[in-house]
Amino acid sequence: MSSSKKDPYEVLGIQRNATDVEIKKAYRKLARKNHPDANPGDEKAETRFKEVAEAYSILSDPDQRAVYDRLGWGGLGATAGGTGGDPFAGFGFGDIFSSIFGDFFGGGTSSRSRRQSSGRSIRIVIPITFEEAASGIEKKVDVKKNVVCDVCKGSRAAGGTSPKRCSVCNGSGVERIQQRTRFGYMINETSCRNCKGLGEIVDHPCPECKGRGMVGKSKKITVKIPAGINNGQRLRVSGEGEPGPRGAPQGDLYVDIQLKKHKYFHRERNEVIYEQKINFAQAALGDTILVPTLVKGEKAKVKIPSGTQSDTIFRLRGKGFPNLQGFGKGNMHVIVRVETPKKLSAKEKELFSELLVFWDKKNKESKKGSK
Ligand SMILES: [Zn+2]
Ligand SMILES: [Zn+2]
Repeated sequence: MSSSKKDPYEVLGIQRNATDVEIKKAYRKLARKNHPDANPGDEKAETRFKEVAEAYSILSDPDQRAVYDRLGWGGLGATAGGTGGDPFAGFGFGDIFSSIFGDFFGGGTSSRSRRQSSGRSIRIVIPITFEEAASGIEKKVDVKKNVVCDVCKGSRAAGGTSPKRCSVCNGSGVERIQQRTRFGYMINETSCRNCKGLGEIVDHPCPECKGRGMVGKSKKITVKIPAGINNGQRLRVSGEGEPGPRGAPQGDLYVDIQLKKHKYFHRERNEVIYEQKINFAQAALGDTILVPTLVKGEKAKVKIPSGTQSDTIFRLRGKGFPNLQGFGKGNMHVIVRVETPKKLSAKEKELFSELLVFWDKKNKESKKGSK
């Protein structure tokens, strides 16, 4: 994306502090005016229409608007990773992720029809650091859940006995109730009340699990967290939920990622923002500074040219978060803030006073010269 792109605020003709209502209003008006249907064959109107739509898509999304406000087009373009945008960025994509990565994590239970009979799914939260999110990590977590009872192996029946087939539903777990209605007889299917839909009756329950077939335990599970993951995103570890009834497949484990706040980094999509204070002398004379990166212990050099103004942003290519899908990386943005000293030593006072006198003289001379 080039920097020659138009400012979306300008495109919509609104102030930078415009409210959501103002943005929407401006968009509606301009979209209607430049709509291709209203301007057949007018290519300029079509271009304007596209610009207006793009400007609105950015400014109506609080995340994208924040990125644009801070970093301009560079911030939005860089995340695109060269292949037309990160479809995960900016929205809590929940199950989209599991549908793509589920098998990758779990080992391919795919979408067999297991919805009704499978065990209960479990949800846990794993907090991770910026550095862990950047590199990807395996986390071992203790998950408290029901597991198949060791003693009865899930049959629910005490040793030496076995469950018997339910006589009401004949083992199907489904009860058919015939009802007479004014249209004739109707058959209603419900879960069997005698066996609670399990199809089996246990006369002598297993003492270990009290006839539940499972017991509560804490289990260590390794969760692979891919590089580039962001706050609020969800992973699915299939088959690590609770056991299903009568040997049905286990439920899944859902892992919600919580990105911990960082001491000095901020994240916007895959971009990292870092603020660095510099002093007057560094700003005026130029300097090379070292800044921390997402790789622990690794620093990056930033060249500050002479005459640098406060709030200037330096971009370090590829020092941001990797794209979750494995291609491209975000950038790091170093914002330099020129700091005014709050307390001066005698020596500093002397030097600044000298500069002040010198600049004062220079100023007067240049005024004289211009007359
Ligand atoms: Zn048992
Ligand atoms: Zn039954």
